[in-house]
Amino acid sequence: MDTTTSPQRAGRIELALQKIFTRSAQVLEVEDVGGSFRLVTLGGDALRDAAWTPGDKIQVMLGGWVQRTYTPIDWDGELGRMRFLVYLHGDAPGTQWARSLRAGDSCAFFGPRKSIRLAPAASPVILFGDETSLGLGAALSAQATTYMLFEAGEHVRAAVDRLGLPNAGIESDPRALAAQMAALLQAHPDADIVLTGKAGAIQQMTRLLHQHGTAAKRRQSKAYWAPGKTGLD
Ligand SMILES: Cc1cc2nc3c(=O)[nH]c(=O)nc-3n(C[C@H](O)[C@H](O)[C@H](O)COP(=O)(O)OP(=O)(O)OC[C@H]3O[C@@H](n4cnc5c(N)ncnc54)[C@H](O)[C@@H]3O)c2cc1C
Repeated sequence: MDTTTSPQRAGRIELALQKIFTRSAQVLEVEDVGGSFRLVTLGGDALRDAAWTPGDKIQVMLGGWVQRTYTPIDWDGELGRMRFLVYLHGDAPGTQWARSLRAGDSCAFFGPRKSIRLAPAASPVILFGDETSLGLGAALSAQATTYMLFEAGEHVRAAVDRLGLPNAGIESDPRALAAQMAALLQAHPDADIVLTGKAGAIQQMTRLLHQHGTAAKRRQSKAYWAPGKTGLD
């Protein structure tokens, strides 16, 4: 008996599986934000009544089984709408996809799924991250008073302003970053701490938190990317 599967049949099975497990949406709007970011609005019936909690992630299908992970900024289950912000960091599949995206395109994605979760009464929160964490900052600040520190250059300013992120510090110098984090820890000793973005930067910040005696149980961290690795989830 021939047990091989033709490429066409494999493709049809793939498509059928994707249809079962993903949500299908339409791109309602794509907005360029300051040259380094694109703000994407998706809509459709499949987005109604989704169980979304701020901090959750989605995995967008870019074609075939290639997928990249992004963080919804907000999600209106009644209207069937959600938004996320893509950082255009270089010439990679997610960035290329976002650059070429147009209103009217279709978009399939997995999720929303749990990633960062605040405790129900968590307030305040200190969020450390980078360009990839701005959307998370917007989502969390709708749930709790959030003090944000982004390891990034001034190119993120336009996105911080566009999302109206409150209490957001932007800093690229490592010593100044450490000083600003120390000041935040001192000003908000009862804050929960969320670390996201580049894996190495999270490790450095974790060491700093150790030095300040911050309890591990108050910390959540999630690497969003790491040099040389693709499509972290
Ligand atoms: C839970 C979660 C939530 C996330 N939310 C968001 C979000 O809301 N918005 C957002 O923009 N990103 C977000 N990310 C990060 C995003 O998924 C990664 O940056 C992803 O690698 C982008 O895919 P790509 O195809 O552009 O690059 P890849 O093909 O994955 O990577 C290609 C190369 O680029 C490098 N690279 C990847 N990201 C960056 C970066 N930011 N800066 C510099 N080099 C990079 C990789 O190390 C690799 O060497 C999230 C990631 C996770 C895990």
